[in-house]
Amino acid sequence: MNTARTEEQTIFADAVRGFAQANLAAGALERAHDPSYSWDIARKLAVQGLLGITIPAENGGQGGTLMDAVIAIQELAQFCPKSADIVQAGNFGAIRTFAEYASPEQLERYLPDLLAGKALIGLGMSEPEAGSAVTELETSAVEDGDDYVVNGTKVFSTHSADATLFLIYVRYHPGVGGIGSVLIERDTPGLTIGKPSLFMSGEQWCQLYFENCRIPSSNMLLGPGGFKRQIAGFNVERIGNASRSLALGKLAFSLARNHAAERKQFGRPLCEFQGLQWKFAEMAVKLESAQLLLDRAVMGAEEGLPTAYDTAVAKLACNQAGFEVANEAVQIMGGLGYSQEALAEYCLRRTRGWMIAGGSIEILKNRIAEHVFDRRFNQRG
Ligand SMILES: Cc1cc2nc3c(=O)[nH]c(=O)nc-3n(C[C@H](O)[C@H](O)[C@H](O)COP(=O)(O)OP(=O)(O)OC[C@H]3O[C@@H](n4cnc5c(N)ncnc54)[C@H](O)[C@@H]3O)c2cc1C
Repeated sequence: MNTARTEEQTIFADAVRGFAQANLAAGALERAHDPSYSWDIARKLAVQGLLGITIPAENGGQGGTLMDAVIAIQELAQFCPKSADIVQAGNFGAIRTFAEYASPEQLERYLPDLLAGKALIGLGMSEPEAGSAVTELETSAVEDGDDYVVNGTKVFSTHSADATLFLIYVRYHPGVGGIGSVLIERDTPGLTIGKPSLFMSGEQWCQLYFENCRIPSSNMLLGPGGFKRQIAGFNVERIGNASRSLALGKLAFSLARNHAAERKQFGRPLCEFQGLQWKFAEMAVKLESAQLLLDRAVMGAEEGLPTAYDTAVAKLACNQAGFEVANEAVQIMGGLGYSQEALAEYCLRRTRGWMIAGGSIEILKNRIAEHVFDRRFNQRG
């Protein structure tokens, strides 16, 4: 299914697969149902060089390509989908934007522990009144001597129950040009972390409250005018989201395939019923076509960052393929598919969330339509 891989990438994929099979497959189901961050797995992945894959070697990373990171997330997910979240956190998420724009001093302060799996960075972008319309964010950072004073609220941040550091989108002054970002450590006075809530996927998130939260100006990541650069970094996060959607669709597909090959009803294996064979044919086409679009976005990445259009097309295709295939897999596996004894229902719940997270499928379609008509459509009335 991965025709685009070079010989080197194939060797790397085989090595990651071998590691995942030997070290992560056992306990994958329990891990999937545990809402907390798997620090032990993060440390194991760090030792394998699977955190910071695309971060330059001189900064402590592996100096690899975005395709290497995509291969790692996709291979691991086939054996332990929860571990793929750690590859996301250590390669594609806030860490990637941080590594792209941080000062040498910030890199030195935070990157070693992040790459060792001893620290975790979360992203605080969404707010109660600024979701899809992210540029309406209100969390403010006001300069005061050598400090910034941050006030506002963030919602839905992945890993907010466990993160040791947050990359927080802030407003320095009105307008899109007033948006940038700061780094805020978990134990900073003025930051209160609310009671954990659960997503449908079982993941926890906590509301973040900033009340006169004072940080040194050295914690500024991007100043006013940084929004476009932040979103360019965020496209990598979207590639990780797309990769996991596709990977969990593939995992659900292979669980359903094995089930249909073995389970007998009416005296015949399920795979002998044409009604189910056609489902598999359609699922295979959805997965293969989404893989090609993902590969295109990743291979086209200029200077390590993929384009907004290719990313939107890839994420839309992978989000839809992952969810639709996981949904069919649950159906094909019957009561077992719907039960927490198998990972198919987990794949369904996770892939559902990625159609909302990181740019909902509707917002992606808006972006694609702008490309089609070669003009901007202002979403404000
Ligand atoms: C699993 C998960 C993980 C997340 N992780 C993070 C994280 O780590 N950090 C973070 O900051 N946020 C995170 N989020 C929040 C996520 O970014 C927002 O949920 C998302 O941007 C949508 O915002 P909203 O929930 O406020 O929905 P709204 O913006 O209120 O949208 C509601 C619905 O309306 C649609 N809609 C809105 N505007 C338009 C439009 N112009 N055209 C067509 N349809 C439109 C949306 O697509 C959606 O279906 C996460 C969310 C989920 C589900």
